Amino acid sequence: MIEKRNFYINGKWVAPSKAHDFKVIDPSTEDPCAVISLGSEADTNAAVAAAKSALPGWMATPVEDRIALVEKLIGIYQTRTEDLAQAMSMEMGAPIDMARSQQVGAGSWHLTEFVNAAKGFAFERPLGDHAPNDRIIYEAVGVAALITPWNWPMNQVTLKVGAAAIAGCTMVLKPSEQSPLNAMVFAEMMDEAGFPPGVFNLVNGDGVGVGSQLSAHPDVDMVSFTGSTRAGTAISKSAADTLKKVHLELGGKGANVVFADADEKAVKRGVLHMMNNTGQSCNAPSRMLVQRPIYDQAVETAAEVASKVSVGPAREEGRHIGPVVNELQWGKIQDLIQKGIDEGARLVAGGTGRPEGLNKGYYVRPTVFADANNQMTVAREEIFGPVLTMIPFDTEEEAVEIANDTPYGLTNYVQTQDGERANRMARGLRSGMVEMNGKARSAGSPFGGMKQSGNGREGGVWGLEDFLEVKAVGGWTAG
Ligand code: NAD
Repeated sequence: MIEKRNFYINGKWVAPSKAHDFKVIDPSTEDPCAVISLGSEADTNAAVAAAKSALPGWMATPVEDRIALVEKLIGIYQTRTEDLAQAMSMEMGAPIDMARSQQVGAGSWHLTEFVNAAKGFAFERPLGDHAPNDRIIYEAVGVAALITPWNWPMNQVTLKVGAAAIAGCTMVLKPSEQSPLNAMVFAEMMDEAGFPPGVFNLVNGDGVGVGSQLSAHPDVDMVSFTGSTRAGTAISKSAADTLKKVHLELGGKGANVVFADADEKAVKRGVLHMMNNTGQSCNAPSRMLVQRPIYDQAVETAAEVASKVSVGPAREEGRHIGPVVNELQWGKIQDLIQKGIDEGARLVAGGTGRPEGLNKGYYVRPTVFADANNQMTVAREEIFGPVLTMIPFDTEEEAVEIANDTPYGLTNYVQTQDGERANRMARGLRSGMVEMNGKARSAGSPFGGMKQSGNGREGGVWGLEDFLEVKAVGGWTAG
């Protein structure tokens, strides 16, 4: 069993102030795979104090030097990819090949994009030709608390740490207690890269403990959070007393609108996208809206594709999907599948219980519901498992109405070969992102949502700006 009880504070691995062991469970086997510590208030305070005292020096460090350290980190990251992949596969159940390619790949991709964005970003600029003595200065927000989830762990850690480091913020990272090991490998890389003591700190803990202590801490200037809407609300409330800047990346219930003229692979692509990462993606296309003329065929295709998705242990190589992260999520998904059946959606693939031959581990059957309406629970709630809900529609206007009738607004998808209609849809959908005809957004594109999917944007220039304050100066000596 792996034992990783220490925290990374002020450039050193230190023992927790009080023993509080927490077992990390391997969801493929349901057995404990590691022991970490959950921090207490003294640990949180020590990490925040280290970040606070490192702030002036880090802000004064030329941005070129901060960028150079992140570039060094990217080099080190390339030497630790297998450690990261093994950690994520074991602790959150990403199949090892997928962990190596997608989960690990996302991290270096984001770090590289921040370096590119920062090199083209004017941290100091004139207001305009009309005002030669006005200067706009972008400077760090200050001490940032970074609270991350377990589903795309390295993706989330790098989106926050990369931007914060280049912006000149110092930080305390609290990764999810469900998937702390990859973040601890990342802390080792930050140490090896030589970030000054206190710039980056890591304290493990749970939401009620370290998570809420950070959100309420008077010396924390900003909280950048990714996770559930429930925790986002709690964090916003605890941060209100000290009026912190709060950046939230929350859940989603994306619509994938498939028109009758969609390309022939659209339905298959949508089902496989939904099943990726065992459905545990906030931007999953979890509601498939299909235009009536192709609806019956689409249901048949979706059922067939889902029934061929294989499920198995994360340590095995191959293109299967793994378990969901833990017992709690497994139970929640089972309840929601049962609710879909009880409310009258037509089950065409999967269902409750474990897939055949898997009696232990948090495995879920790839499931498809057809003939749902948008008021059913399976169309409204984020299931966060491999469950697709299909809803028929007739007109473009109806599709926009159904797609937008959700508290969430993260990513929507459109499949049509009519370019003008696609562009109209992109304008009409209320979400932070729209992806059409299987084209992913490019490197440097901002990630984030509207409505209850959160605020702010991560990645590229926008991600950098979220960790920056804008200072307007009059009377600047020009030249
Ligand atoms: P979660 O909200 O329970 O936990 C996320 C993190 O917040 C963990 O580190 C946890 O310890 C911490 N936390 C929990 N309660 C807290 C509190 N009251 N105060 C401070 N911190 C707290 O979510 P999860 O179960 O880890 O992740 C699943 C959810 O996250 C899903 O709803 C998913 O859609 C969402 N998510 C969103 C995005 C995005 O970018 N929009 C990305 C990944 C996950």
